[in-house]
Amino acid sequence: MDIQDTGRPSPTAGRYPADEAELTARAQALEAILVDQGLLGTDTIDEIVRIYEQDIGPLLGARVVARAWVDPQFRARLLADATAACAELGIAGLQGEHLICVENTPQLHNVMVCTLCSCYPWPVLGLPPAFYKSFEYRSRMVVEPRRVLADDFGLVLPADVEIRVYDVTAEERYFVLPQRPPGTEHLDEQALAALVTRDAMIGVAKIAAP
Ligand code: FE
Repeated sequence: MDIQDTGRPSPTAGRYPADEAELTARAQALEAILVDQGLLGTDTIDEIVRIYEQDIGPLLGARVVARAWVDPQFRARLLADATAACAELGIAGLQGEHLICVENTPQLHNVMVCTLCSCYPWPVLGLPPAFYKSFEYRSRMVVEPRRVLADDFGLVLPADVEIRVYDVTAEERYFVLPQRPPGTEHLDEQALAALVTRDAMIGVAKIAAP
């Protein structure tokens, strides 16, 4: 499943298609076995998917980012203890017990990957997109991040910008505080939140000026 946060087509849509087909087939096979054995009903899975598609997802992360952009004290608390700062906004829960937020600057670009599987900060970003679960992304991002960002996501970073790759685990779930784009000084918190994308909070995109 590939949750879209803005309604705009994702730059990664349709990427790694072979991988996505394999993941879909594997998920369907697992679901069929669990349902067949009476361990859960299809409505259980549908309800969890509905919750993460409609109630929880990148829109919550976007609220966190926008608050950090307009409130320097919240930003400081977010970078010091993201779990506590997110809880201030009522954002907490499953797969988010230890959130860590890392800040992008003009000199530093952070990006997330789970090299082992697909660990992800669910309460702020929802469920991970297909590319995040792909073997290609998980293996290449740690080896040649600058090239993956440029080739697969169209994000070309200047040579003097340092790239840091964070390996997300079940214990430490990172997400990125993107740079506030120029020309947004007049926007309020709600308008700023509407600019923030899931991919920017993963670190595979920047936020474009409106
Ligand atoms: Fe993982």
